[in-house]
Amino acid sequence: MFDSVRTRLTFWYMGVLALVLILFSVGVYALLARKLYRDLDDNLKNAAEGITVSMLRKSGEGGSALRAASDALDEHIGPLQAAAIFDANGSLIAENTGLNGIHAPLPALESIPGDEVRLYTTSENNESDRRRVIVKRVTASPTGKAYVIVVSQPLDQVIGGLATIRLILFLAILGALVLAGIGGWFLARRSLSPVVEMMEQARRMSAENLEQRLPISNPHDELGRLAATFNELFGRLDQSLAQQRRFMADASHELRTPLSVMRTATAVTLEQEQRSDSEYRDALKLVDEQARRLTRIVADMFTLARADAGRRALHANDFFLDELVWECVRAAEFLGSRKGIQIKLGKLRETPYRGDEGLLRQLILNLLDNAIKHTPREGEVYVSLERQDSEHRIIVSDTGMGIAPEAQPHIFERFYRVDKSRSRTEASDLGAGAGLGLSIAKWIAETHHGRLELRTSDETGSVFVASLPASEPREKAAF
Ligand code: ADP
Repeated sequence: MFDSVRTRLTFWYMGVLALVLILFSVGVYALLARKLYRDLDDNLKNAAEGITVSMLRKSGEGGSALRAASDALDEHIGPLQAAAIFDANGSLIAENTGLNGIHAPLPALESIPGDEVRLYTTSENNESDRRRVIVKRVTASPTGKAYVIVVSQPLDQVIGGLATIRLILFLAILGALVLAGIGGWFLARRSLSPVVEMMEQARRMSAENLEQRLPISNPHDELGRLAATFNELFGRLDQSLAQQRRFMADASHELRTPLSVMRTATAVTLEQEQRSDSEYRDALKLVDEQARRLTRIVADMFTLARADAGRRALHANDFFLDELVWECVRAAEFLGSRKGIQIKLGKLRETPYRGDEGLLRQLILNLLDNAIKHTPREGEVYVSLERQDSEHRIIVSDTGMGIAPEAQPHIFERFYRVDKSRSRTEASDLGAGAGLGLSIAKWIAETHHGRLELRTSDETGSVFVASLPASEPREKAAF
């Protein structure tokens, strides 16, 4: 039962309310009891005082002491009170047992010091039989005779009154708690109903319908904000799931093409029993080309998949960036020479750097490979390494045909190719040719806390800039 937040809330609410009501009731009861006992004591004091004054006055006027005492009792005794007057030896002089016919008890004389007044409660077993008693010693002047005046009043009225108040308070607390419990239960139910709705909606959701969202009853309260936060999370999950699906679809599409080329080549070659050596050689060459292409695509996909999964660690080491650029240019020169493209290298300055050399090599080679692929014969590719502010910039520009403005925002997307048929036929050993080269290069730059941008691109050529922070990139555990 206590597993339900609603129940717990209700019980908490009732518990706190009960505590407040009990404290309040105890306070009120204590004050009231004090007041009732005080009033009773005051009544007794007044009666004793009245009797004293009256008796002394009357006996002073010369009447008999007995008569004076009896008159004083009759005049000043309250309706529920009993009173008696004793002489110094403890013998009863006068008594008025009041309406109840109860005797005022005589206390032990020695327990009344001097002229003082003493108040006490009798100690009958039954509480409602007890009485409050005032005992007062009086000395008459000028005779010097001493008297003891005793007035008593039963406590049953006060005790009964207090019992009624206790009952009323108890019932009031009980009633308030029951009402508060019912109210609290409904209130908790009402305020938790958005959570129940969210829960039901979340239960209906799966990877197939992640585009659905949790209902938001009030966007400004805590539950609304919670639902909004979850919705944002679902949005991100949905997006990355869609990305994964697109990746899978694109990947299978890219893998299918070389496979079908290979199958066609082998099928056509095997159609006839006998083929010349050169025909076999041509077929094998085609198969080899496609197999390389497949290997390249799979390697790139693997790199990206590991990057996505955050499992590609950055193997940072110290090296010279200028040497790396120089090495890459040398490697690309061979490819360029096949198309008669000249690769020029700007002036290099010694640039010590800390980063993942292997990844950065791949970045530069990808840019160079693209530049060579997309530059017509006899064109030119220019590479430079610059230091600007707190960044090293590797700039690769070419005199190619450029990238159409509408395609420019997409070139860093995975599997995106501007002209699919062209780049595939011109796929080289270096480039993926599947539209993955730039996304990998961009990831490498970002993994080094840098950027890869297309600075300009038009019919006269394109300029790609990879910026890497000059300070040591922080080595991350995993990327
Ligand atoms: P791929 O490996 O297939 O070349 P990339 O991700 O490297 O894929 O590039 C994406 C697209 O960007 C390419 O299809 C190409 O059309 C375009 N592109 C990249 N670099 C250049 C460049 N230097 N000149 C013209 N187009 C380019």
